[in-house]
Amino acid sequence: MIRNSLRVPQKLFSVHRRWLNRVMAFVAIALLTCTAITSAQAIPLGDLLFRGVQAGQLSNLSDQQEMQIGAQMHQNLLSQGVRLSSDSGLNRYVTGIGQRLVPFNRRARLPYNFFVVQDKNVNAFATMGGYVYVTTGLLSTADNEAQVASVIAHEMGHIEAKHLLGQMRQSMLAQGLASALLGERRKQLASIGVDLLVRRPLSRTDEYQADQVGLRTIRDANYATSAMPAFMRKLLRGSGGSPTILSTHPAVPDRLRALDNAIRSGPTNRCDQNDRLAACGLDEGAYQSAARQRV
Ligand SMILES: [Zn+2]
Repeated sequence: MIRNSLRVPQKLFSVHRRWLNRVMAFVAIALLTCTAITSAQAIPLGDLLFRGVQAGQLSNLSDQQEMQIGAQMHQNLLSQGVRLSSDSGLNRYVTGIGQRLVPFNRRARLPYNFFVVQDKNVNAFATMGGYVYVTTGLLSTADNEAQVASVIAHEMGHIEAKHLLGQMRQSMLAQGLASALLGERRKQLASIGVDLLVRRPLSRTDEYQADQVGLRTIRDANYATSAMPAFMRKLLRGSGGSPTILSTHPAVPDRLRALDNAIRSGPTNRCDQNDRLAACGLDEGAYQSAARQRV
């Protein structure tokens, strides 16, 4: 029952537990393996590793450091078996959506990178430093470009709000690792990874925030905002869930309610006047030929 209750939110937008757990493990791996990254940085990573990781420092990493950890995590993801799509047209298409959103993200100075993961599961996730991933399963499930944009914007919301770094910091503090890690650092860092891997819960607060940032982003980029709740509802319908199961997932209806309210009461964009404009991203035929038939 508990396992069932976890299934629906897992499928909804991003980081969902399985991916999050993997990603968290990679964070620990990244911290253990990025000793070679020591160029000009506000907090030298060598210090982080060898003089000890100060939990508080994780919230003060420079963009450069965050990007380097993101890059290291990317390499670790690949070495752990995450397979990227080699379809250059598909990659270009997804990158095009992401780049249209970047100017409206509040960390637009990050060199955002968008990747298509060859995986039939419907998923997307973000690590840090501008690294965003969507699966071919997600691309084949979405009805239109605006839905894909809404997921990517949600993921960029996690990066904008530095959620992963925050979760690492919390995990370290929870284990009494606020101060320097000396001597036993590798063992302790590994234990953080294991802890995150097996029992770190998703943060509802982070999900709400990423939804709201994502909504703001697609609105500002002039995509149809209705696509965000529409895709969430589609995933719910397709999850095999019954009303009973849905009633055990309060976060999902609450997130949808929050989105609906924000759309109703928030600013509008030109798609609210005419959502048939090509830029609004609701044209299913166009999406079919641009992406869906390629996956
Ligand atoms: Zn998320």
